[in-house]
Amino acid sequence: MLSGLVEPAHPGAVREVLEDVHELVRSLVGQGRVADYIPALAEVEPRRFGLAVATLDGEVTGVGDYRVPFSVQSLAKVFALAAVLGADGDQIWGRVGREPSTHPFNSLVQLEIDRGVPRNPFLNAGALVTTDRLLTLTGDAAGALRGFLRAESGNPALDSDPRVADSELAHGHRNASLAHLIASYGNLENPVPEVLDHYVRGCALSASCADLALAGLFLARGGVGADGTPVLSREATKRLNATMLVCGMYDGAGEFAYRVGLPAKSGVGGGIIAVVPNRCVLCVWSPALDVCGNSVAGVAALEHLTARTGWSVF
Ligand code: GLN
Repeated sequence: MLSGLVEPAHPGAVREVLEDVHELVRSLVGQGRVADYIPALAEVEPRRFGLAVATLDGEVTGVGDYRVPFSVQSLAKVFALAAVLGADGDQIWGRVGREPSTHPFNSLVQLEIDRGVPRNPFLNAGALVTTDRLLTLTGDAAGALRGFLRAESGNPALDSDPRVADSELAHGHRNASLAHLIASYGNLENPVPEVLDHYVRGCALSASCADLALAGLFLARGGVGADGTPVLSREATKRLNATMLVCGMYDGAGEFAYRVGLPAKSGVGGGIIAVVPNRCVLCVWSPALDVCGNSVAGVAALEHLTARTGWSVF
């Protein structure tokens, strides 16, 4: 079963690998728990599975539900950070760290330990700070994020799901607490309710594995976006990928690096984006999650995929 390096430029070979991987994880699909602290997400069918590969030239190969839109949730944090880095350079690093966290993604304890400077931009607290900065820079953080994803995915219909956003906002006491705690340390530029509103609307964007693999391609192309112009410099792209590698899977980042060996970001909608620099971007979706909030079948699929293809940074 183990084979040599698969060239992502050969869609036939890639499709075969994806089909094999789908088969290998079939018994894991549905294992774990769908996020239910956002009631609208609890309604999602846990047995969904999609997997897509976008190659550097913008070709997509996929299996399963790879064209079905799902709630991107924390996958949005990568694009929000990219948008801020692109507009504002390194300034954001004065307000948020880039070390991994041993506490969960929504931990108040971690934020208090870090005295209002979130440990990394992929924790909820860190994303609240990047959303705040994006709001200052654009006047419409959620709109800017949607525009970014539409432009990079080439899907003009990509949009936020108001039901998911309202559901999260109505149950978002923990994120509200995080935002107030950040504000108490003087690390927010905009009013807490506005930052929260833009944050949840960004998390509530709906996109498919195909959309997200395409939207993330700049991460595999040294920062070059869909229209051939830089979204980020090569250097900033290297740093963003490095930050994903150590922080993107939360307190499961070490285990994920060990099993998969790629920079990646997960969301509680069950999506994971993983970057194979200079080759391709992978996006997998399966809604049932492990204790860290990472898709059980999704992590397993990426593990099989990198073992089979040799697509790892190591
Ligand atoms: N919107 C979710 C939240 O704030 C995002 C968390 C996630 O995907 N890990 O809790």
